[in-house]
Amino acid sequence: MPTLLWMQTAACSGDSMSLLCAESPDLLELLEGHGVELLWHPSLSPTSAADLGRTIDRILADEIDLTVLCVEGSILLGPDGTGMFDSFGGRPKKDLVAGLAAKAQFVLAMGTCAAFGGIPASGPNPTDAVGLQFLRDEPDGGLLEREFRSRAGLPVINLAGCPAHPNTMVQTLLWALSGMRLELDHLHRPTEFYSTLVHQGCTRNEYHEFDVEERDFGAPGCLFFNLGCEGPTTMATCNSILWNNQSSKPRVGVPCFACTSPAFPRAHDLFKTNKIGEVPVVLPLGVNRASYMAYKGLARSAAPARLLERKSKL
Ligand code: SF4
Repeated sequence: MPTLLWMQTAACSGDSMSLLCAESPDLLELLEGHGVELLWHPSLSPTSAADLGRTIDRILADEIDLTVLCVEGSILLGPDGTGMFDSFGGRPKKDLVAGLAAKAQFVLAMGTCAAFGGIPASGPNPTDAVGLQFLRDEPDGGLLEREFRSRAGLPVINLAGCPAHPNTMVQTLLWALSGMRLELDHLHRPTEFYSTLVHQGCTRNEYHEFDVEERDFGAPGCLFFNLGCEGPTTMATCNSILWNNQSSKPRVGVPCFACTSPAFPRAHDLFKTNKIGEVPVVLPLGVNRASYMAYKGLARSAAPARLLERKSKL
């Protein structure tokens, strides 16, 4: 019988809450459908912390075969490399996670903190937080070595996002449990879920095309030019597989913060676009600056009156 253990390290539980929102399948359907024994999940298991300690010891002693290890949260290496800022039963979680990873068939980093360090690893990082195998985009900076491979021959599978998208988590779990081949990008994210831009499918796209810019929140236009949206440079399915089958941040007027990126969170204001003059410093992926500047003026002059008057129904 396949087994799944969910370890929570330096985390806010956002990925657990996101996982519980999965609908196709939901978590219980996934576990029951594949006969998976849930060894531990901090929000779901009725057993005690002492039971978790015994389960961990049995896995480390090869008495329980671990199929999937899910880790939610950054790994804290401090103080002074001891890892004791985040411990369990007197043992640093960094050591427990490293030991469990060596036993698991698949290791999944659930969310950007586990994948790349995330918010705890952003400056000044007093706890020496890192991701499981990466620190930001650096493959040598994480808890596990660059060469680490799980028993299935895969590196840590990074399901980035703050939180990770529920569909991305359950579908990747299904793929792992089914033994299907997973294609990963250079940041070890499954290409199935990280090869389209958040911008694709956004209901504000028509405003973007015609350079109809918003300067204040609450209006229907594009948030890229002034209000900090990183949808045109961020790989995720937020606008093609909607959250709760309903919506996404840009659709409801909140800029994409690029939370699936190893650079998340960026150092400057999340609600403001850095610009040189009227042109954003970071342009849509692959766009040449000179061409963009020429296009921007033309697009604006061609904008239909209904968009300028914000009459396109969202
Ligand atoms: S709001 Fe963001 S995701 Fe939507 S069209 Fe504008 S740049 Fe793209």
